[in-house]
Amino acid sequence: GGEVRFEDVSFGYDPRRPILKGVSFTVPAGRTVAIVGPSGAGKSTLSRLLFRFYDANGGRILIDGQDISQVTQASLRATIGIVPQDTVLFNDTIRYNVAYGRTSASQAEVEHAAVLAHIDGFIAGLPDGWETMVGERGLKLSGGEKQRVAIARTILKDPPILMFDEATSALDTHTEREIQRNLREVSRGRTTLVIAHRLSTVVEADEIIVLEEGRVRERGRHADLLALG
Ligand code: ADP
Ligand code: ADP
Repeated sequence: GGEVRFEDVSFGYDPRRPILKGVSFTVPAGRTVAIVGPSGAGKSTLSRLLFRFYDANGGRILIDGQDISQVTQASLRATIGIVPQDTVLFNDTIRYNVAYGRTSASQAEVEHAAVLAHIDGFIAGLPDGWETMVGERGLKLSGGEKQRVAIARTILKDPPILMFDEATSALDTHTEREIQRNLREVSRGRTTLVIAHRLSTVVEADEIIVLEEGRVRERGRHADLLALG
């Protein structure tokens, strides 16, 4: 499962000022679709509708065919795992950071999530392994390493859908490359929605939706969109 479908979705914080104007797209189960567009295009608004922080004024949002207006916010949060771009880690161990929010998780489950998020090799290379302190007074992790810890935390909850929120534009090239790699590795075979500021972040998405002023302006694969200029 894990298909996400927007059908002619319209929304305005103020009904007289529409922000999303008839947005339609589908993320087939297991595929990766990216929503890209300039600041103010409506990307964050779209993700807020998906989590029912607001309800659409028109159209429908469906997850596996079910209209989300029938689904609670809590249930949506269990269905869609969010991987933020800027992960703030707790000043605690890697184990705590991965298991956070799931105190009942067994060590085997935590380690499985770490394998899937590709942080197992990294952990094995640390003298204190899982017990390595991170955060302000601990080991300094790169942006991409921090994100992998966040991915492991999200995967541990085993949500059918992953959402990468990469709408922030300020990223150094090294971090952007790490984040692209994380996305490429983790999205394989999972339903993944990526909210991104730039086309360069989402080279390998199955489909890229370009949102401008609340409308789908273009859609296609990365190479097709580059050809359009
Ligand atoms: P993006 O994520 O693509 O930068 P947003 O969804 O944040 O775009 O914003 C789309 C439009 O909605 C912008 O004009 C923005 O000013 C407006 N907007 C965003 N959040 C709110 C809000 N909470 N209340 C009113 N207007 C908002
Ligand atoms: P929980 O720990 O409650 O299961 P998640 O790990 O799924 O929550 O999400 C982490 C937090 O991010 C939640 O508090 C959620 O409300 C919040 N959130 C929801 N939508 C977004 C979004 N579009 N971008 C960033 N964070 C979001």
